[in-house]
Amino acid sequence: MHKVLIANRGEIAVRVARACDDAGLESVAVYADIDIDALHVRAADKAYGLGGNAPADTYLNIDKLIDAARRSGADAVHPGYGFLSENADFAQAVIDAGLIWVGPQPATIRELGNKVTARQLAIRAEVPLVAGSDGPVGSAAEARAFAEQHGLPIAIKAVYGGGGRGLKVVRDIHNVEEYFDSAVREAEAAFGRGECFVEKYLDRPRHVEAQILADNFGRVVVVGTRDCTLQRRNQKLVEEAPAPLLTAAQEETIHDAARSICREAGYRGAGTVEFLVSEAGDIAFLEVNTRLQVEHPVTEETYGVDLVLEQLRIAQGQPLEVSDGLRPLKHSIEFRINAEDVGRGFLPSPGDVESLRTPTGPGIRFDSGITGGSSVPPQFDSLIAKLIVSGSDRQQALRRARRALADLSIEGVPTVLPFHRAVVDAVDFCDIASFKVHTRWIETEFQADILPDPAYRPLPTTEQGLHQLPLEIDGRRHTVGLPAQLLALLTSGTGRPRAELHEQDDSDPNDGIVQSPMFGKVIKWLVEEGDQVTEGQPLLVLESMKMESHVPAPRSGTIEELAVVAGDDVKTGTQLATLA
Ligand code: ADP
Ligand code: ADP
Ligand code: MG
Repeated sequence: MHKVLIANRGEIAVRVARACDDAGLESVAVYADIDIDALHVRAADKAYGLGGNAPADTYLNIDKLIDAARRSGADAVHPGYGFLSENADFAQAVIDAGLIWVGPQPATIRELGNKVTARQLAIRAEVPLVAGSDGPVGSAAEARAFAEQHGLPIAIKAVYGGGGRGLKVVRDIHNVEEYFDSAVREAEAAFGRGECFVEKYLDRPRHVEAQILADNFGRVVVVGTRDCTLQRRNQKLVEEAPAPLLTAAQEETIHDAARSICREAGYRGAGTVEFLVSEAGDIAFLEVNTRLQVEHPVTEETYGVDLVLEQLRIAQGQPLEVSDGLRPLKHSIEFRINAEDVGRGFLPSPGDVESLRTPTGPGIRFDSGITGGSSVPPQFDSLIAKLIVSGSDRQQALRRARRALADLSIEGVPTVLPFHRAVVDAVDFCDIASFKVHTRWIETEFQADILPDPAYRPLPTTEQGLHQLPLEIDGRRHTVGLPAQLLALLTSGTGRPRAELHEQDDSDPNDGIVQSPMFGKVIKWLVEEGDQVTEGQPLLVLESMKMESHVPAPRSGTIEELAVVAGDDVKTGTQLATLA
C-alpha cells in the first residue's frame, strides 16, 4: 500500500489523511464542488473533484470514486464513516478494481448491515439479546401478534436502518398499524428498502459498545468499552471511554459477546459491537458497525492505540500489534460539535463559519473538518468537529472539559456548544454516584434554558459551489471550476461578493405562499389540500443534513394547493404550498 484514496469529507477525511501521513502513505482527497477549499482537501497530498454537489453525485457515487482512485494512482480506499463505509457493493467495487479495501470483507458488511441477519448471527454466537421477530415482519398484524406475545413497548426497526433513523416505539397497541405503516414508509424513503422487524423496546437503557480489532490471522482483540448514552433522536452526542458504572460481570459479558460475534462473523478490521444495558442491568446486543466509529478517538486516547493506523496495518495483511486485556490509562470524553441550533430543537443550521478559536492545554484533542472561513454546506451531515478531552479520571476529564468548552468559540453558525456547556454542569450526568442519564434523557429530563441562536440563518447568505467555465489553453479546451463567490466578485465589479443575491426572504408573510426555510428533501405532508391550519402548525416534514424537521404554517388559513410531493428536493425559498 502506497497511496490511499479517502472516500469521505469533513473531520474524518482529515483524520484519515493524518494517519496516512503518520504511516508514510500518500493520501488522496475527493471533493464535491462546494468542498473545493475544504480542510480535508488541504489535509491530503492531492485532491480530485467529483463534480456536483448532491451526495448521490459525489461521496455516494461509486463509479466516480473508483474513477478518481484510478486517475490518482491510489492502491487503497479508506471509506471513513457514514456515506459508503457500510456499503458492501462499494467494498466489492473497490476490490474488483484491484484496490485494497480498508474494512471488513463485503460478505461480512452485508451480513452485519442487515439487522435481522446480524441478530441471527448473535443468536448463533450465544450472545444475549432482547426478544425480537425471527425475520422482517410482513404486516402490522404480525407486529401486533409479537406485542401480544411479548408485551409492550416494542420497537419497530428498519432492517437496513442506520444513523438512529427508522425506529418507532409502540407503547399503545392501538398505534401498531399506524406506526408500522409509517416505519415502512420512512425506511423506504431513507434507505430505499422498507423491510422492518420488531424487538422489545427497553426503557431508560444505557448504550455501551465494545471496540474490536481483528486481523487476518484469527486474532480478535477488544479495545475496551465506550458509553454513548447521551443521544438526541437516537443519535449520539457525547461519548466516553471507558464506559462508567459497569460491574466486572457486565464488562466480561460485553467483551465475551463482542469477541464471539466477531469470531462467528469471520470479522477482519476495526468494528464496533453495540449493546444496551437495561435498567435492571441486563446486556442486550444491538448491532455491529462494520467501520470506524465517529467516537473512536475516546478509545484511542484512553488506551493509547491509533485505530486508523491499525486499520491500515490490517488491510495490508499485517498482524495486530495491539494485545488483549489493555487497561485504560485515562478517562476520555468526546463532544460532537454539530452545526445545529439547540434552542430550535437541534435544528440543522448550515452557513459560514466566521471564526474558530480552539482550546489548548493538557488532555485536549480537537478533530475538525472546519476552520475559520469554512462553509458548512446543507447537503451533508451536521457534524463539523469533535472535542475530545482526557484526564486521569472522569472527574478530571470533566473539569478539563468545562474549561475547554468555555474556551472553544465558533462564530457564524449555531452549534450544539450551549448544550455541551450545560451538560457538563448537570448533576445527573456528572455525579457518577447518582448517574441518571439514559438514552432518552436529553429529550425527557434534561433541563436548561437554551435560547434560539441569533446566528441561525434560514437561508445561505452567499452563493456556493463552482461555476464551470470553458477556457482555452494552448489551443485545447479545458474546463475551469470557479468558486461562485469569486465569480460574483469578478462580475459585480464592486469588489464585494453579491451576498445580497440570496439574502433573507423578505416576502410578505400574508401573500399566501409557504416557502421552504431550507435546502432539503420533502419526507411527507402532515396536512392535505383544503385543511384549515393555524399559525405555527407543522405542515410537512423536511429532511436536511440527514435530520427531519417540521415546516410550520407562517400564518393561519386554508391549504389551497400543495406544490411539492414526498421525495421532491427543495431549496431555500422553494414554494411548498399556497394558503388561502
Ligand atoms: P455512530 O454510531 O458512529 O454515530 P451513525 O450510524 O450514527 O454511527 O453514523 C456515523 C456517522 O456518519 C454519523 O455522524 C452520521 O451522522 C454520519 N452519517 C451517516 N450516514 C451519512 C451519510 N449518508 N452522509 C454523511 N454522513 C453520514
Ligand atoms: P442505528 O443503526 O440507527 O444506530 P441501533 O440499533 O444501533 O440503530 O439503535 C440506535 C439507538 O436507538 C440506540 O442507541 C438506542 O438509543 C435506541 N434503540 C434501538 N433499539 C432499541 C431497543 N430495542 N430498546 C431501546 N432503545 C433502542
Ligand atoms: Mg447503532
